[in-house]
Amino acid sequence: MPLPSLSLASFRLSALFCASLFLGAGCGSGSGAGNPSSAVAAAPAASQAADDAPPTEQTGGFDGRKALAHVARLTALGTRQAGTPGIVKAQEYILAELKSYGCAVETDDFHADTPAGSLAMKNIVAKIPGERRDIVLLATHYDTKRLENFVGADDGGSSTGVMLELARLLCAKPGKDTVWIAFFDGEEAVNWQWADPDNRYGSRQMAARMAAAGDLKRIKALLLADIVGSKDLRIRRESFSTKSLTNLVWDTARRLGYSKIFVGDQSPIEDDHASFLSRGVPCVDVIDLEIPYWHTTQDTLDKLSARSLAIVGHVFRESIRELERKSR
Ligand SMILES: [Zn+2]
Repeated sequence: MPLPSLSLASFRLSALFCASLFLGAGCGSGSGAGNPSSAVAAAPAASQAADDAPPTEQTGGFDGRKALAHVARLTALGTRQAGTPGIVKAQEYILAELKSYGCAVETDDFHADTPAGSLAMKNIVAKIPGERRDIVLLATHYDTKRLENFVGADDGGSSTGVMLELARLLCAKPGKDTVWIAFFDGEEAVNWQWADPDNRYGSRQMAARMAAAGDLKRIKALLLADIVGSKDLRIRRESFSTKSLTNLVWDTARRLGYSKIFVGDQSPIEDDHASFLSRGVPCVDVIDLEIPYWHTTQDTLDKLSARSLAIVGHVFRESIRELERKSR
């Protein structure tokens, strides 16, 4: 890792502080676009890191190379902070990709009152109808921390790449449950510190809208991904998450042979799932906050691995199947 060990140590202390006191320096995540197909094919600099991607026959069809290529395209846009031109380009890219897969897509444009004033934000949701009205809600945030020259390859990029690749698979082949894939704007705190209500703008907006529409009870599970692309990926159980749902995902990972990635120890992390947990929705947050480059300009594409993205994508795909089996 590129940072000196002193920085690594202080980062870990900071992460621990965030996690245990539920505040701190951007605990958020922390606590924690053109012709889409050709754009992905021409994605810059993704080929080297894609070398370790497992064959798609081993990952339920999930293509880690494609997921990484999305991250390459997103980071090439530069910073993607809520309410800035950079994020508008990311929105165009996500929308164009989802439409190219044949997904039905809805957007919610709203304004959020932030310490930087009223900011225009946009949630994007791909809606894949199943045989049942029950919704499995997959989610990520796609905005990046308000930090100069920060491109958020892992924090904001990696999980967005995973969700786009899942959308390609799922929109082509709907299952029993209805699946929605939400791309949240405004997860990151506008201030450096993560302190409510300055964070989770997009997920709070979607949870409130679903509550008003009477749709919250349709959500049988929210599976959130955030910071899932590191070459040294190690995902602990997030202890605010719903235990039975966390068990389902970790059991699935173990069955697939990923116990060294989805490990047994746990830590509490504030993230977008809090917006739904507080309303009684079963949630699990899949996040690796122990990255030494978290909320630094070192969060760049070279830190990521197509294999890590593929493993997380595979676990999400199989967890959806497990949830379907449980409802029979
Ligand atoms: Zn973050």
